[in-house]
Amino acid sequence: MSESANPFESLQSQIDEAASYLEIDDDVIERLKHPERVLETNLTVELDDGSLERFKAFRSQFNGDRGPYKGGIRYHPQVSRDEVKALSGWMTYKTAIVDIPLGGGKGGIVVDPDEYSESELERLTRAFAKELRPMIGEDRDIPAPDVNTGQREMNWIKDTYETLENTTEPGVITGKNLASGGSEGRVEATGRSTVIAAREAFDYLGKDLEGATVAVQGYGNAGWIAAKLIDEMGATVVAASDSSGGIYNPDGFDPVAAKNHKNETGSVVGYPESEEELTNDEVLTLDVDLLIPAALENAIDGDLAEDVTADVISEAANGPLTPEADRVLESEDVFVIPDILANAGGVTVSYFEWVQNRQRFYWTEQKVNAELEEVIVDAFDALVETIEENDLDNPRTAAYVVAMQRVADAFDEAGSFP
Ligand code: NAD
Repeated sequence: MSESANPFESLQSQIDEAASYLEIDDDVIERLKHPERVLETNLTVELDDGSLERFKAFRSQFNGDRGPYKGGIRYHPQVSRDEVKALSGWMTYKTAIVDIPLGGGKGGIVVDPDEYSESELERLTRAFAKELRPMIGEDRDIPAPDVNTGQREMNWIKDTYETLENTTEPGVITGKNLASGGSEGRVEATGRSTVIAAREAFDYLGKDLEGATVAVQGYGNAGWIAAKLIDEMGATVVAASDSSGGIYNPDGFDPVAAKNHKNETGSVVGYPESEEELTNDEVLTLDVDLLIPAALENAIDGDLAEDVTADVISEAANGPLTPEADRVLESEDVFVIPDILANAGGVTVSYFEWVQNRQRFYWTEQKVNAELEEVIVDAFDALVETIEENDLDNPRTAAYVVAMQRVADAFDEAGSFP
């Protein structure tokens, strides 16, 4: 793993790269590079032993020109102001490339949740929700789960907000469980968009997905669903990894059985259909048609990228390639479907959740999946059009070109106040 890039600098360099293909004034580009506002707050929470502990927390509202800010809340010891700012920027361009009427935001608490009890985490989450209350709301800013947060935390935030506001407003947050107003199809959405985008890329490149070999790095929610769905599309999943290591079978294996093995034992390692155990790096550099990185950011740095042999990469994870790896893979003509498109299924179905909450009318899973399919295919078509119009080699740059133009148009049409 990785030269560790400052994520906010990475975001800004991606924006600069795309800006050279756009006819947007420099002063507007400057706006597109910075968050509109960042809340930095200290939460004082009572622990189970009666003592008090202070936790630093952030919420960045990057851009609201296309709609309310939207983005997750993560709990991690490495959460920082710059990381939250960068992630909120990526959300802005993610909602723009898939053309859903939302802006970008992100939040986080500097905490290792494994070190605290459930009741401590509940008090911490409710303390953060109290701080967030004036700035969130279904028409202002709509948080969601991210690293180490899930339906439980979302339900606490919703309850705190609704109690303080004396209302019912399920659309204030997404990623809730079904009983609290969640959406069908949300859990599978990220893996689903990752493989829809891969299928479209194979079609665009004139490659056959039937029988194509696939390696999946990271066998959590996004990765294992992607493995299951790409297998259903006729591809052959030959390798997978998690934090304990990797498995490989050149003839392919059953992704569902591998997941069941992981559920039972804690890891894919030791799965009986595996012929060979691989290291995490070996899974990333395996000679396959499609690589799906679905673990953490900066998984592939410039050095490792030299050894990557996949033809297509669909980024289920956020930021799995360092900027240097991106340059290496571009020079080697690897078609990289950028995270802001490939994993946008998560935020797209969050958007559907919000729509359903506002309508108080809930969709079937079939309808959710059909609508998601249309959104991702349209986004991929816009990407290809921009690649061809600008003769671009890097699909990531093309994605930013599409997304930044949409944000800039919304700003331009609204004008500036005051
Ligand atoms: P998860 O926690 O369910 O799964 C992560 C997996 O990665 C685990 O299996 C873990 O063992 C594995 N892992 C960790 N380090 C590894 C390493 N060095 N090598 C191989 N595997 C490793 O998380 P998730 O929800 O699947 O998210 C994965 C990525 O997808 C993250 O980057 C996340 O930001 C991104 N993402 C997720 C969603 C979503 O809806 N879940 C939406 C958008 C983006």
